[in-house]
Amino acid sequence: MEAVEKPSAVQRNPYEAALKNFDIAADHLELDHDIRAMLRDPERELTVTVPVRMDDGKVETFVGYRVQYSTARGPGKGGIRFHPNVTLDEVKALACWMTWKCAVVNIPFGGAKGGVTCNPKKLSIRELEHLTRRYTVGILPLIGPDLDIPAPDVYTNPQIMAWMMDTYEMTKGYSVPGVVTGKPVSLGGSHGRNEATGRGVFYSIQNACDFLNISLENTTVVVQGFGNAGSVTAHLLDSAESNVVAVSDSTGCIYNKDGLSIPKLILHKAHTGSVLGFAGSEEISADDMLSLRCDILVPAALEGAITGENADRLNARIIAEAANGPITPDADSILFGKGVFVIPDILCNAGGVTVSYFEWAQDESHVFWDEAEVYARLEKIMKNSFMDVLKIHRDRHVNMRVAANMLGVGRVAEAARLRGLYPQ
Ligand code: NAD
Repeated sequence: MEAVEKPSAVQRNPYEAALKNFDIAADHLELDHDIRAMLRDPERELTVTVPVRMDDGKVETFVGYRVQYSTARGPGKGGIRFHPNVTLDEVKALACWMTWKCAVVNIPFGGAKGGVTCNPKKLSIRELEHLTRRYTVGILPLIGPDLDIPAPDVYTNPQIMAWMMDTYEMTKGYSVPGVVTGKPVSLGGSHGRNEATGRGVFYSIQNACDFLNISLENTTVVVQGFGNAGSVTAHLLDSAESNVVAVSDSTGCIYNKDGLSIPKLILHKAHTGSVLGFAGSEEISADDMLSLRCDILVPAALEGAITGENADRLNARIIAEAANGPITPDADSILFGKGVFVIPDILCNAGGVTVSYFEWAQDESHVFWDEAEVYARLEKIMKNSFMDVLKIHRDRHVNMRVAANMLGVGRVAEAARLRGLYPQ
């Protein structure tokens, strides 16, 4: 692993960043003390020990988490991350952001998140399956189609969701496809879910370009993180005649000033497991990549990628946050001061959870939609949500992040107020 994998101090505590943004939105909304107090901590946190018999016959223990930040607007919803740097505070931050995100796109879910501190790249398939199933049993009391619905996140995928669903069903004795989303289509998954996050990011970029009067054609693009979210975003931008000039993953960064062929790069990464060594590209450092002059920068890896230390060196007109929390609050002030148009994560990457909602609705109703219907509904929700955030940005003279947080926090606060406090 190279240096970019090591978390900085700010990355180590993204929950502080999440709370800071909550406080800013709460101040603008003039939330009263009681509602603010109720929304400033997660409803429920569960830590589980996950013992796994490894291929060498020895038992190794991992630590897993599931956090339900708020269920005021509906069941918990949020992905599962398998990564060596997973901490309880990271999961709390991600669950907090999920809460405001579901409210921004106005879908009937609260916010949750889960994770296991592990390096899935070092596990065999058998070990990965056992880890997934034992973790699922650990968080079993919290999950269910009306309770809390997991989905994929960093280093988890449809196969892992299939194992989670199967484990849950084995304990129940009947079929419950709505317990997870992001499953394979053949197990009740939705068409379009696998590429929903990247597609939603692409729609958000289109919406921003329309607003800023920029034509996507010939724009230069830099993508940090070439996984599910980043590679789909890059592919759709490439198809729209944008020029993706630099891309990175956990192994390093590549650059070609004339543009990288994204379909070929996807094949190269699938084949070699890395973006490095792609024909016609040169390797550059992570710092150099982030400071490249470009129209659109898409951080699509982990939180805390853009900090007070590197924000001033960035040369992008638009930053589309495919990742959750890639920009720290101190970097935010610098970027907004420079006039960079930031599409905040809880709006920009909400396509994933929106299609997860479609998947859950299809599972619950047993009626399935084709890909065209999924994309049409997604595009409409992304457009309406962008316009809702933009309206607050303009009417209240706040930046796009504050506007998105005001929309999300405001909707959750309204639900909490209407519910009242029980028992009292
Ligand atoms: P993924 O596991 O498919 O991909 C992650 C990618 O990031 C990999 O290519 C990995 O090599 C790369 N990476 C890891 N560390 C890096 C580093 N330090 N520098 C550069 N690249 C690095 O995960 P994903 O699902 O694409 O998630 C990426 C981001 O998008 C996360 O912040 C996640 O929370 C967010 N997100 C994902 C979804 C979803 O539906 N999958 C939805 C909303 C938001």
